[in-house]
Amino acid sequence: MENEKLQQLKNLLGEVWDISMAAAVLGWDQETYMPPGGSKARGIQLSTLSRIAHTKFTSPKIGELLSELEPEAANWDPDSDEARLVKVTRRDYDKATKVPSDFVAEMTRVASEAQVAWREAKEKSDFSKFEPYLARIVELRRQYADFFAPYEHVYDPLLDDFEPGLKTADVQRIFEALRPQQVALIKAIAEKPQVDDSFLHQPYDEKKQWDFGVEVITKFGFDWKRGRQDKSAHPFTTSFSVNDVRITTRIVPDFLGTGLFGTMHECGHALYEQRVDPALERTPLGHGASLAIHESQSRLWENLVGRSRPFWEHFYPRLQEYFPAQLGNVDLETFYKGINKVEPSLIRTEADEATYNLHIMLRLELEIALMEGSVEVKDLPEVWNEKMREYLGVTPPDDAHGVLQDIHWSMGALGYFSTYALGNLISAQWWERMHEDIPNLDEQIRAGNFADLLGWLREHIHRHGAKFEPQELVKRVTGSGIDPAPYMRYLKTKYGEIYNL
Ligand code: MG
Repeated sequence: MENEKLQQLKNLLGEVWDISMAAAVLGWDQETYMPPGGSKARGIQLSTLSRIAHTKFTSPKIGELLSELEPEAANWDPDSDEARLVKVTRRDYDKATKVPSDFVAEMTRVASEAQVAWREAKEKSDFSKFEPYLARIVELRRQYADFFAPYEHVYDPLLDDFEPGLKTADVQRIFEALRPQQVALIKAIAEKPQVDDSFLHQPYDEKKQWDFGVEVITKFGFDWKRGRQDKSAHPFTTSFSVNDVRITTRIVPDFLGTGLFGTMHECGHALYEQRVDPALERTPLGHGASLAIHESQSRLWENLVGRSRPFWEHFYPRLQEYFPAQLGNVDLETFYKGINKVEPSLIRTEADEATYNLHIMLRLELEIALMEGSVEVKDLPEVWNEKMREYLGVTPPDDAHGVLQDIHWSMGALGYFSTYALGNLISAQWWERMHEDIPNLDEQIRAGNFADLLGWLREHIHRHGAKFEPQELVKRVTGSGIDPAPYMRYLKTKYGEIYNL
């Protein structure tokens, strides 16, 4: 179904893609190998490239080609790559052209100042130093939403940037159903004797931690000819092509959990990017569908696989060989319970599977309240602490361990957080479906065999890239929209057994 206009569109989109990928290489280098002296020049280079990419993507020529192609595309198979390309490009084009470039520049400028202010405020644990910047960011985000008026909810346009097609009301409904169940589960666990995880907090040789992680993700199916792993302060995944996907990890010398689960997490993102259909490359379809779908992959490998008993029945003897002094006397059962310890805590990034989503719900509620104007920026620390007490039963001793802990708001990224929790929920939906399709999946994992699992993900999710919006993809695969029930079933079964509930 190749036609000339479509080819012209693809050529223009291919150039935008190339520029964005070049920027991604610079971004990767910035976080891994760039000497500190390079940061100013790198900032300028990245902003130049992103401006060129934005200008090219919003060029009238792309708009014309879309308008000419749309009547034809109406007769194409709606699920074909071509029809989806026109549809998704139209969506992104309309969004990108609605936002004036002056506004984009102002947002970038404010965000870069706000990040400096946030770092200082966090160091001194003094919210007042960040407050005026956050107030300005909220103002700008409201202005941003107004470019997309009319909307059902002022938060919708923000959410849509990360989860195309998803509405605030959808997420609120999902979280409303989830919250009381999660709170009840945590309360029930708190009444039981705590499990021991002290063995995780010992000196663990960094090289051996790295090597074990590599062994695990190689078995998962990470393709080293089309990817590599490096170290960075904050682990991330980036890709420059389906044939060049980079992950990073962070190894902590006296705690096993960070490197181990972080490596599996980023590998989950990478397995997705490495298995997008190469035919979608150099188009807006050539990467993962959304942040939540991406997180459903990373979380699936990190938690549903990596913190499961079958997985450790296979890998634990091997881990003990790496660390005989630390783990030689720790049996599998103790290890399994230790890596699944549930404990309400202050910091989101260190939260366990049972408490994590509550950290997210709190942030989502506050973001919505800020956008609606029902909570003022100055009152944020107090409201934060109240919600922490209500949901998790812990009170931050200071703002650094409370409202100032995450970088996201300083970057202007209001609208982002819910994707983490949605990813958790979706991962359990895949998991249930996958068990129906692969009845002996647990046995396969117990044997260290992940081929069917990865093949299933590739077939149902990975290869489609961004062809389908997140809700649509979940529905196609599982028959229902994003649904918290499978995740709650998963948590209740797992922790019911670990904590004897
Ligand atoms: Mg992630």
